Amino acid sequence: MTLNDILREKGAAVLTIDPSATLDDVVQKLVRHNCGSLVVCEPTSEGRAPRMVGIITERDILRACAARKTPLDQVLVSQVMTTKVVTAGLGDGVEDVMGLMTVNRIRHLPVLDEGRLAGLISIGDVVKAQHAQYALENHYLKSYIQG
Ligand code: AMP
Repeated sequence: MTLNDILREKGAAVLTIDPSATLDDVVQKLVRHNCGSLVVCEPTSEGRAPRMVGIITERDILRACAARKTPLDQVLVSQVMTTKVVTAGLGDGVEDVMGLMTVNRIRHLPVLDEGRLAGLISIGDVVKAQHAQYALENHYLKSYIQG
């Protein structure tokens, strides 16, 4: 199973935010969409897709809250985001991606298709897909054993 299989079902929509937005904007958007991360994109010249410049997750918000007393509406996304983004490709297998997430201790992975943002996979999506796969295999193995 590849990330393409997961995204076909989940869809390619990726929630993004501008680096000049504030952490309060991030919190509002995460809560509104019930998700845990936003890909940080800056606008490019007309007609071209926005450029990914980072990622910000609920973990970053927690760290920012713990580290400083500045109100969230006075801290910019660009001050807190992770700029070295780990990404995956559409054709990557789910098991490889689980390894990538474990090694890097991340739960969100932007998926690229020829350099273009093609979706976002969370650890929840990966676990769901693996569970479905194991349940199917289990079903067929039981049918095979029981005849
Ligand atoms: P998470 O476990 O995904 O909430 O993220 C934990 C930390 O890793 C946060 O500082 C995130 O900004 C960072 N992070 C999350 N996803 C990625 C990614 N795909 N590439 C690089 N850093 C990430």
